[in-house]
Amino acid sequence: MNLILLGPPGAGKGTQAKRLEERYGLRQISTGDMLRAEVRSGSEIGRKAKAIMERGELVPDAIIIAMLAERVSAPDVAKGFILDGFPRTVPQAEALDAVLKEKSMPLDHVIELQVDDAALVERISGRFTCAKCGEGYHDRFKQPQQPGVCDVCGSTEFTRRADDKAETVAARLEAYHRQTAPLLPYYASQGVLRVVDGMAPMEEVARQIEAILGPTPGRG
Ligand code: AMP
Repeated sequence: MNLILLGPPGAGKGTQAKRLEERYGLRQISTGDMLRAEVRSGSEIGRKAKAIMERGELVPDAIIIAMLAERVSAPDVAKGFILDGFPRTVPQAEALDAVLKEKSMPLDHVIELQVDDAALVERISGRFTCAKCGEGYHDRFKQPQQPGVCDVCGSTEFTRRADDKAETVAARLEAYHRQTAPLLPYYASQGVLRVVDGMAPMEEVARQIEAILGPTPGRG
């Protein structure tokens, strides 16, 4: 099963993708995570992308499409993938259609997480992650049970994304509305678009997504 999670930054795509990875045996593909890894490694792609990402703008389609086409061909996505943060423009969506067609891979569902802009700023500006295992936390909504210690791995080091500052969040939302929202009619016309209420509590959002996907493998 292959899916796309679509929605503005902070809508909960990453959180839901991680959950679906475990439940359905799918592979999360986050172009944002891939780009951050390129930036950390100091690669040519990373050097090109860094300043663009810090401004909250989109990295050029050609770079992203090449990166994604290679990633979906890897053996570990054979059971299916969850795209998180890709596509973000109509040319990216068209390129994805072409790659999938060439590999005879279906696109089963495109799930939009609908969230108000006002809620997004609050969600994004409070988030931080464990530097060691990547578990996500939030200043208001999800503090570690023991302050300063990761619930999952016990690490005491945490990081915040450079582009989660309030100023950059506004640019990222603007990019979403101008460049990514046109994907909603694009996928609606293909008959694969489904909408869930991303304002609902995380568990409820997960239930709505699972209702669309059907029973988890091995659970009947
Ligand atoms: P994300 O982690 O998905 O919020 O992505 C962080 C940043 O990486 C974005 O604000 C963009 O600058 C860049 N980025 C991630 N995915 C894409 C994409 N599909 N197209 C263009 N830029 C992207």
